[in-house]
Amino acid sequence: MNPSGKLIIFSAPSGAGKTTIVHHLLKKVPELEFSISATTRNARGEEVNGKDYYFISKEEFLHRIAKKQFVEFEEVYNGTFYGTLRTEIERIWEKGKTVIFDIDVEGGLHLKRKYEEQALAIFVQPPSLEVLKERLAGRGTDSQEKLAERFIKAEKELNYAPQFDIILKNYDLETACKDAEDLVVNFLKN
Ligand code: ADP
Ligand code: 5GP
Repeated sequence: MNPSGKLIIFSAPSGAGKTTIVHHLLKKVPELEFSISATTRNARGEEVNGKDYYFISKEEFLHRIAKKQFVEFEEVYNGTFYGTLRTEIERIWEKGKTVIFDIDVEGGLHLKRKYEEQALAIFVQPPSLEVLKERLAGRGTDSQEKLAERFIKAEKELNYAPQFDIILKNYDLETACKDAEDLVVNFLKN
């Protein structure tokens, strides 16, 4: 493993736009490779196993926890687990690339505490809670029940912003993508 590998962490409440920004960066910055998380939720829409997530059963997830295979994991929503496998970071560092994460707020802070200066932790901030709710509902991927659960969590997560290295405002998407690119390119230079 390359011990001096770098990590870029994008965290935010669900609906803030982190997946959109991370996808943009993956197209623009060839040094980056996406950390594919494991999750027990079902694939939605166009999602592909082994590309967006490793979709695994709860049984397998618990087995991997017992085997200490996760760098971090969380029950992000009631009964639904998400986690970063140790082998995923190693796989990307072995290719000489920088790992980029799309991860919830607590998971992001966990990784930042673990990797310290190797990591750049970016909090994606929506203009307001109301706009966040509109974006989440507008995405059209979650049931009413799932939306309500995400709204409650989002409200709490907005308070974590100051604990990140940088707060990236996602008001206008084009501006946010450009700002994100500048931040990442700068971090990779040093
Ligand atoms: P997250 O990964 O943080 O849950 P997504 O990237 O899925 O969020 O974005 C949530 C929804 O908001 C998507 O439908 C996306 O197209 C939309 N969106 C993202 N950024 C903006 C923006 N700046 N203005 C308007 N809509 C946005
Ligand atoms: P979604 O179901 O919308 O894909 O993701 C739900 C939340 O889980 C998002 O905030 C996403 O960033 C987060 N998430 C995805 N992968 C991981 C992971 O490996 N660990 C943690 N802690 N959260 C994750």
